[in-house]
Amino acid sequence: MSLDMFCYQCSQTVGGKGCTRMGVCGKNPLVARLQDNLVIATRGMSAYLYHARELGYTDPETAEFLEKVLYSTFTNVNFDAESFIEMALEAGRLNVKTMKLLKQALIDTYGEPEPAQVSTGTVKGRGIVVTGHGLKALDELLRQTEGTGINIYTHSELLPAHGYPRLRKYPHLVGNLGKSWTDQKELFSRYPVAILGTSNCVLIPQPEYRSRMFTTGPARLPGVTHIEGYDYKPVIDLAMTLPELPEEPGDTVLTTGFSASTVLGLKDKLKELIAAGKIRHFFLVGGCDSPHRRLGYYREFVEQLPKDTIVLTLGCAKFRFNDLDLGDIDGVPRLIDLGQCNDSIVAVEIALALADTFGVGVNELPLTLVLAWMEQKAIAIFWSLLSLGIKGIYLGPVLPAWVNDDILKVLQDNYDVKLIGEPKEDIEKMLA
Ligand code: SF4
Ligand code: SF4
Repeated sequence: MSLDMFCYQCSQTVGGKGCTRMGVCGKNPLVARLQDNLVIATRGMSAYLYHARELGYTDPETAEFLEKVLYSTFTNVNFDAESFIEMALEAGRLNVKTMKLLKQALIDTYGEPEPAQVSTGTVKGRGIVVTGHGLKALDELLRQTEGTGINIYTHSELLPAHGYPRLRKYPHLVGNLGKSWTDQKELFSRYPVAILGTSNCVLIPQPEYRSRMFTTGPARLPGVTHIEGYDYKPVIDLAMTLPELPEEPGDTVLTTGFSASTVLGLKDKLKELIAAGKIRHFFLVGGCDSPHRRLGYYREFVEQLPKDTIVLTLGCAKFRFNDLDLGDIDGVPRLIDLGQCNDSIVAVEIALALADTFGVGVNELPLTLVLAWMEQKAIAIFWSLLSLGIKGIYLGPVLPAWVNDDILKVLQDNYDVKLIGEPKEDIEKMLA
């Protein structure tokens, strides 16, 4: 049985269990769902603010907004559905500001990313695998392992670290292992390495590797040692006791690290190629990976795209297809990895600059966004895109569960949001 709403935050709640049809306080299901959406979106935004703060950057306007959001969802404060839609758009706007802040913090600290080739095999020697989004944690670990002989591998959303000049300068940052967060249990069981989980997405560990795993930052796991701050001596000490990995080259070499400057440096060339009919369309295909059976869509979609199209990507959904060799169009790569999910801001900057170059609005560009969502950062990004007036987004694998018919109507009528269908038919519609 599906619930119209669920709220159990005050003592009036039905039967002491939860209001599921209508709030005893008078809160209706639409308001309840919009409150849930707003809290979910701001959770995503606070993750980006957290990482910016780690590097010494923060924003009082965003912090003030977070207080307002949480207060507005108290019992008997705000029963106005319209105001929760306005706050969701404001959350989107402030998430754009927060992603910009984080990007600036990262560029100031580690340099602007440059395209980098990343190997996917193992190098002979002891290793530590770092997963999550924590570039600061990775940087500290790289510093602390210099000269120890330990090799550092990135996993999942830390792949883009290889593009940052002040991180890739470390010769013992040797490659990326595995794919998205979803393969942790198999991957971490297979390799006898120490593991550092720096943020989401970490999974409850298997017994095989629990004692080899550590968390830091916001991540915590049962039975796993947590390290407050950035002193990773326990991780390094453990790594020194573990067996060496063999020299085993991977099947593919991945390319990451495209910054706004790199892509916009190709602006004139892109203009020429579009005018010559050699580039027909751009797609932003990315977001969150998940084990959902519908995630296979994103690989099929990219595989079936015509050769006169370019794919920009970000987030961990790219691991569904970033091993594909899509080739290039007159030297412009057909697969351009912009980085982590927060690098959506890079995609936005590129889209706005291209719209400016062509003298059109962003919705008139030959560009379609095909996004996968799994968790709260993706929802923050979704509202950021809506707050920028971007229309016609294809969303998958399923609609967020807080979207009821009323909310879907708002999203469709105002933003032409669509749910992914089948790759072939979707591509035909997008290119029509
Ligand atoms: S705030 Fe309203 S909807 Fe929520 S538990 Fe209390 S009475 Fe129910
Ligand atoms: S992109 Fe989303 S799903 Fe993927 S690791 Fe980051 S937070 Fe998790």
